[in-house]
Amino acid sequence: MADSTSTPLTVFCKLCLSHNEERDTSALHACGCVFCTQCLQHYVSLAVREGGGALITCPDLACRGAEGLSDSEVACFVSEGQAELYKRLKFERGTVWWLMLVQVIVGHLRSTGGHLGALMMIIMNSPQGW
Ligand SMILES: [Zn+2]
Ligand SMILES: [Zn+2]
Repeated sequence: MADSTSTPLTVFCKLCLSHNEERDTSALHACGCVFCTQCLQHYVSLAVREGGGALITCPDLACRGAEGLSDSEVACFVSEGQAELYKRLKFERGTVWWLMLVQVIVGHLRSTGGHLGALMMIIMNSPQGW
């Protein structure tokens, strides 16, 4: 027999400002904030489209534990296509930053007549693994 007298556990969602049943909500790994799964889906898909590959953080502005969502977490809330788009945008963002850095270094070496070995060292140690 199901216990119909007990009230279901509810969670307050700061995105839609309403109480929702716990089973309809999801918690973020990085900070533990809980929002409706549907709200997170809307939020993450918007962040993917508008963010240009920027790290997607907790939608709660007051949340300081903003480490950002991992790729796999992002993929939980958006379609496969959007998850791919996010990864690509994030990669391009890193690449653009890297190309800018190389240009700065090359320009610096040209003006100072420095050795290209220094540039090679930086390329070998780049986070992109180039
Ligand atoms: Zn909500
Ligand atoms: Zn949070």
